[in-house]
Amino acid sequence: AKWVYNFGNGRAEGRVGDKNLLGGKGANLAEMSGLGLPVPPGFTITTEVCTHYYANARVYPDDLTQQVQDALARIGADTGRCFGDPRNPLLVSVRSGARASMPGMMDTVLNLGLNDATVEALAEEAQDRRFAYDSYRRFIQMYSDVVMGLDHEVFEEILEDEKAGLGVEFDTELDAAQWVGLVERYKAKVVEELGQPFPQDPHQQLWGAIGAVFSSWMNHRAITYRRLHNIPEAWGTAVNVQAMVFGNMGDSSATGVAFTRDPSTGERTLYGEFLVNAQGEDVVAGIRTPQNITEDARIAAGSDKPSLQKLMPEAFTEFARTAETLERHYRDMQDLEFTIERGKLWMLQTRSGKRTAKAALRIAVEMAAEGLITREQAVARIDPASLDQLLHPTIDPGAERDVIGVGLPASPGAATGEIVFSSEEAEEAKAAGRKVILVRVETSPEDIHGMHAAEGILTTRGGMTSHAAVVARGMGKPCVSGAGALRVDYKTQTMTALGRSFGRGDVVTIDGASGQVLAGATAMQQPELSGDFAAIMEWADKLRRMRVRANAETPADARTARSFGAEGIGLCRTEHMFFDGDRIVAMREMILADTETGRRAALAKLLPMQRSDFAELFEIMAGLPVTIRLLDPPLHEFLPKTEEEIAEVAAVMDVEAELLRRRTEALHEFNPMLGHRGCRLAVSYPEIAEMQARAIFEAAIEAAAKTGRPVEPEIMVPLVGIMKELEFVKARIDQVAAEVMAETGASISYLTGTMIELPRAAIRAHAIAEVAEFFSFGTNDLTQTTFGISRDDAASFLETYRQKGVIETDPFVSLDIEGVGELVRMAADKGRATRAGIKLGICGEHGGDPASIRFCEEVGLDYVSCSPFRVPIARLAAAQAAI
Ligand code: ADP
Ligand code: MG
Ligand code: MG
Repeated sequence: AKWVYNFGNGRAEGRVGDKNLLGGKGANLAEMSGLGLPVPPGFTITTEVCTHYYANARVYPDDLTQQVQDALARIGADTGRCFGDPRNPLLVSVRSGARASMPGMMDTVLNLGLNDATVEALAEEAQDRRFAYDSYRRFIQMYSDVVMGLDHEVFEEILEDEKAGLGVEFDTELDAAQWVGLVERYKAKVVEELGQPFPQDPHQQLWGAIGAVFSSWMNHRAITYRRLHNIPEAWGTAVNVQAMVFGNMGDSSATGVAFTRDPSTGERTLYGEFLVNAQGEDVVAGIRTPQNITEDARIAAGSDKPSLQKLMPEAFTEFARTAETLERHYRDMQDLEFTIERGKLWMLQTRSGKRTAKAALRIAVEMAAEGLITREQAVARIDPASLDQLLHPTIDPGAERDVIGVGLPASPGAATGEIVFSSEEAEEAKAAGRKVILVRVETSPEDIHGMHAAEGILTTRGGMTSHAAVVARGMGKPCVSGAGALRVDYKTQTMTALGRSFGRGDVVTIDGASGQVLAGATAMQQPELSGDFAAIMEWADKLRRMRVRANAETPADARTARSFGAEGIGLCRTEHMFFDGDRIVAMREMILADTETGRRAALAKLLPMQRSDFAELFEIMAGLPVTIRLLDPPLHEFLPKTEEEIAEVAAVMDVEAELLRRRTEALHEFNPMLGHRGCRLAVSYPEIAEMQARAIFEAAIEAAAKTGRPVEPEIMVPLVGIMKELEFVKARIDQVAAEVMAETGASISYLTGTMIELPRAAIRAHAIAEVAEFFSFGTNDLTQTTFGISRDDAASFLETYRQKGVIETDPFVSLDIEGVGELVRMAADKGRATRAGIKLGICGEHGGDPASIRFCEEVGLDYVSCSPFRVPIARLAAAQAAI
């Protein structure tokens, strides 16, 4: 079998389409090579080797050694060197590369092949001993760390110690002899810590590194990451072995990272950072402050360090051209890694770049305008969930700013919260319902959970491409990075700025747009949803089939929903309207009355309030459909709880408090969720449904008169399991409609339907559809009743289920397609069989979840309804589902 694929020198055995086999990095290296771009020659050991390795007790395929040998010889031929040759050594990097980029995998090892002999040859060839030994010490440190498990900090301590002794600040200030001395100390440290010398045989080094990559596929961090991101174990990782090029070969060498467009704003400009005389991840590690790539960026940043454009104009020009080529080839914004060795450009990586939601929109819209992609592709490219970050507030421009420091505007949006200094604290605070800003010197992959829990992230070290910046942008969290004037002291749990000291729990605000850090909380402003956002939404609206409605009951929610483009209300819960102020008293009066007359008297007080609520909603929705659900929660929830509350109702009703207390006790339910609620209330107390129906009809007439647009309310009867329940309630609704029409002389058109939220309703959907004119899938309750799990109690064990692999995702977040979804599909089919064209929608939380929306499209629902803030997400997801 073929286990090894070569690339380099304008040729490649693989293509970008071979990601499954070659991993993302390998496939893109091959693609770049095939395009004739300057890529150091190398080869990729396929993911199939990884699979073989784990299927066979960690043994490689027989012929792998030979294939690697041949591939090394081929790189040797391309570079005119020989791996292991002490006089003319080929040095390589060993890089892991899964299909999807995956933190937790083995870090790259550079300069592999160096030993006490080859380092001298390298010094000789480069005419630079300092460079050679700098490379060697880097290699010892990296290799010991990632292959032999010796923490890199032990070496950093030695280096710091050396620098302190010499009184220098930067690594670049050390001379050749000092690096030679350091290498000796490093090697001695390896012996001291591991009881064995640092391996001198390049082949042993190479196989050690290859083995470490494959082993890292099963390390704890990688396994956790895969579980969190649903990446199958069977995918495996590839290993890339590639000839070294050196960015640390003096002042005409450099290394850097760049994006073909600004990943924060989406602006079409080559955007990135580099360091002269540096190697590998020096740029992202924040060792020195990186320099800008373009002159424009340098000027904008007010930096006095020269840009790449100025410093190495020829390499810059070639790089800019290469970036352009790659972007046009991939038709997407690229994230590039490059190295310049003595003026010559080398490309080391390209991949589609991570970007903020704002940038994603701008890039998609502009690329469509440039003709690089179609509008459909532009719509398909935006991650619907990411729109969430655009809906985040920013600092009110008029607000007072008590600025205590400025860092880099690493990820947009503003956030306020209490300071915490560790990810653990961030999680704890979040669990306790507090909002925090995670303040760190810098972040690492171990901080992901803390970053998730925090409202925003503030670091004192690192650039725009630092870990904190990249991850925060991906998460859509505001982030200010590299705020160097702030001092963070973990020991004393303080952050000092401009002579002021802030401790844990003190409130700060970060502004991811300007990079400012502010003391205290600041006034925020809601985002503007125009420009690129509006363009994408407009394109999405043309592509989608399903309608998008919102779940809203207050005028404020209804207005927000409309401003986000909702095409109606899919769920107006009426119970919230009974909890406010005086209403709860009238409601309690109604519940606790022991006669129908008593109930009707109390309901009469509620009628005008309900009517005006509905009228206002209808006016705001101006003719768009509005689905109103009749009273749903168990009466239990409305019962007075305290003595005071009982006394208050008793006074209004003019009865003994004792009597009310007894009645309250009698109405107590053991399991209210499965108790006296939903249409069961309407069957027991039809006068409640009648009052609500009257309020709806009268409000519809009133609003229609006001707005000039006819209102066609959709009255939804909750928790129907038996067709006769619906039949019974519908008869009452129709009766009221007839009465109101007779009284007012107006004609009313309306629909009566039900929520499908009980398995029995789904099973009997064909019968229910004889009465129901629409179904709305109440997937929150349907999930509860199908699983027999109460949502309020599920948190304690569903997470355990997830961790133990019993379930993959929380069924309350993303619809359980194979179970609950099957009921939805069945009910939809049965409903349509009885009543062709029956209106079908979904109104559970799932109506705003992209994966669930895809399913709704598949089943052919007419609309989804979700919370107002998720409307844009649903519009986009519905379009993507239809493409
Ligand atoms: P990651 O997946 O963490 O980005 P990479 O494999 O891309 O790791 O390696 C990190 C960095 O190491 C690269 O950006 C590049 O600067 C450097 N590097 C990797 N291979 C080589 C090489 N053959 N020559 C020079 N530098 C290299
Ligand atoms: Mg890395
Ligand atoms: Mg990389």
